[in-house]
Amino acid sequence: REYGEISLKDIDQVVKSSFPLCMRHLFEKLREDHHLKHGGRMQLGLFLKGVGLNLDDALAFWRAEFSKKVGLEKFEKEYAYNVRHSYGKEGKRTDYTPFSCQKIILSTPGAGDQHGCPYRHFSEENLRAALSRMGVNSRATEDVMNKVRNKHYQLACTLTFEAIHGMQCDAGINHPNQYFSDSQKIFQQ
Ligand code: SF4
Repeated sequence: REYGEISLKDIDQVVKSSFPLCMRHLFEKLREDHHLKHGGRMQLGLFLKGVGLNLDDALAFWRAEFSKKVGLEKFEKEYAYNVRHSYGKEGKRTDYTPFSCQKIILSTPGAGDQHGCPYRHFSEENLRAALSRMGVNSRATEDVMNKVRNKHYQLACTLTFEAIHGMQCDAGINHPNQYFSDSQKIFQQ
């Protein structure tokens, strides 16, 4: 496959190898609940657009999950428009750009919301569990938690990236799509 594009059949594998925790969490919640509230749909949807999921695949992706919960008809009526909209195919045809870390970190998820930055918005217990599922060892986990305590969320994410990839990330993480492309570059070397 070409660099800079993902297709639906690759998605489960690239989630595990190359999604930052914020997006991995949204993806897993969507698979589990077959639903995400608006903030989560925007954060994950625009990220997926940024990693190269085309509109047809995006529609198929959201339809497959949402139709299990709300039914196909309701999906087509209430949600499909928004997917097309975020690809600039409806309304004012604005081509929306994926959210930066700063925007995500400053977001304010409410009850039932799954968006946001886990380094900022998760409880310590949930963050530790998530890092362990990502394969971060206990020593690196302590380094990550240290950054979190000092409110250096992007540095915490950078350390996670380095622990998982076994490689320095000199630029630091400042955008979920940058995390993804830096990761893919390593795996495709
Ligand atoms: Fe996502 Fe950025 Fe937070 Fe990492 S630092 S989890 S990429 S928002």
